[in-house]
Amino acid sequence: MPRVAYFCMEYGLHEDLPIYAGGLGILAGDYVKSAGDLQVPLVGLGLLWSEGYTVQKIGDDGLPRDEYFPTPRDVFEEVAAEVSVQIRGKQVPLAVYRVAKHVTAQLYLLEPRKPEDRWITRRLYGGGAEDRVAQEIVLGVGGVRLLRALGIDVDVYHFNEGHAVFAGLELITEKMAAGASFEQAWASVREQVVFTTHTPVAAGNESHRVEMLIDQGAGLDLLSRDQLVRIGGDPFGMTVAGLRLSRVANAVAELHGHTSRRMWKHVAGAAPIVAVTNGVHPPTWQDARIRVGYSGGNLWQVHQQLKRELVAEIAARARVSLSEDRLLIGFARRAASYKRSDLILRGEAITPLLTERRVQIVFSGKAHPADSEGKRIIGNLVNVSRRFPESVVFLENYDMRIARLLTRGCDAWLNNPRRPMEASGTSGMKAAMNGVLNISVLDGWWPEGCEHGVNGWQIGSGFEGPGQDEHDLGSLNDVLLGDVLPTYYEDRPRWETMMRKSIEMSQWRFSSDRMLEQYYQDVYRVPVRTSTAA
Ligand SMILES: *Cc1c(COP(=O)(O)O)cnc(C)c1O
Repeated sequence: MPRVAYFCMEYGLHEDLPIYAGGLGILAGDYVKSAGDLQVPLVGLGLLWSEGYTVQKIGDDGLPRDEYFPTPRDVFEEVAAEVSVQIRGKQVPLAVYRVAKHVTAQLYLLEPRKPEDRWITRRLYGGGAEDRVAQEIVLGVGGVRLLRALGIDVDVYHFNEGHAVFAGLELITEKMAAGASFEQAWASVREQVVFTTHTPVAAGNESHRVEMLIDQGAGLDLLSRDQLVRIGGDPFGMTVAGLRLSRVANAVAELHGHTSRRMWKHVAGAAPIVAVTNGVHPPTWQDARIRVGYSGGNLWQVHQQLKRELVAEIAARARVSLSEDRLLIGFARRAASYKRSDLILRGEAITPLLTERRVQIVFSGKAHPADSEGKRIIGNLVNVSRRFPESVVFLENYDMRIARLLTRGCDAWLNNPRRPMEASGTSGMKAAMNGVLNISVLDGWWPEGCEHGVNGWQIGSGFEGPGQDEHDLGSLNDVLLGDVLPTYYEDRPRWETMMRKSIEMSQWRFSSDRMLEQYYQDVYRVPVRTSTAA
């Protein structure tokens, strides 16, 4: 079995460890958890963020406010290792920590040893572009040096997102230092690297001025400006570099594979892009009682128990008392306009449903601290919750704990991004595994899982382009009024059958165990070469 080093900027392991922001981190956390469960030779590498990601509370004006707290350190064990990187012309010694809880695979986090260097890892996705590059040097370059310092042998380097691509530059530099030419070094590094691309939204793909990279130290000593540009272009695209530094790249769902191939087809020398659909870690995300209810117990009773727990938590946190006998729809997303969190609220159809309390909605989500548009989106949801205090609620500070409560305690899970901008959307998988029925646009993973009216519902027909919002809103209302509400209130046996179908469809196919197996089979497996490499 190939020995894999997995690089990621964030890991969602537990709500008490704020070293994750959202979907990317949850995915990486679930992945290393599965690697530990299945005892495969995979080592995770990341950063120890001193304050981690924002704790986001709603102010009296209805807008989110950011607060930061020190990351608890009792779950990290320091490992003796001599590792350092050069940033802005200065040597930065790094401390190495192993995560000793929540995960059994080896997961190492790096942090500058000296307090005066800690600005680098102060806050996840904090600071400006220069700071981001410094963070990425610690992750990529520091990560490779850490593997060497600990004597960990690696067959495959997996860059999860472009954040990690400086590891590729370090690997090239190592080979050049050992006597290879740049061309030879690049070709041989490419054979050892695989790359996962995540975002189909152009602005979500980071790029940097080449001079700035060199100033920060990412050019390392042996690479010329010209060589850097050949790898990442000018400006230096982190995704472009990932595609050119790897033997094979992958998208995170089948549809995202099509989108990514179209999006990156202009990149000469890019790796082929295959698709490995994401999955979630069932022991983390599927309630154990649901597993029992599904395999013989009373599924509906279990579901109602989970819903009561959620309703109680909502009452405690938001002082809103929802009814356990009324349909409860969940929607929790990072606040980004393509996710259209307010779609269900547009138009007239929803108002009587909310005033009569035929529909209850619980929203949650964070905005990136520097994203004022995202904060406005959250403010809008908070306003709606104030207009319908009996049936709409916004839960502040979306984190793994809230995600867990929602994806097992709601009746249905709503997802209406503007297709094809949602690469995967793993919260719907968590919901599906708990028998929480997805009502979703055919984006991300859902085209692979959806059997309309059998294990959930589709919104729209995969329509893209101008008029998509109206098309999807019309379809959402049709599905809601024509099938979801009648089934929920008048045909409980059918609802329960759909819950069973949802669990059956998802608990293996959309688990991180299946995902890990597929990475080992389709991506990590080193192809047998008969020709000698140039
Ligand atoms: C699962 C999860 C996500 C990702 O879900 P999406 O469906 O991609 O929005 C984000 N944040 C948290 C806290 C999660 O648990």
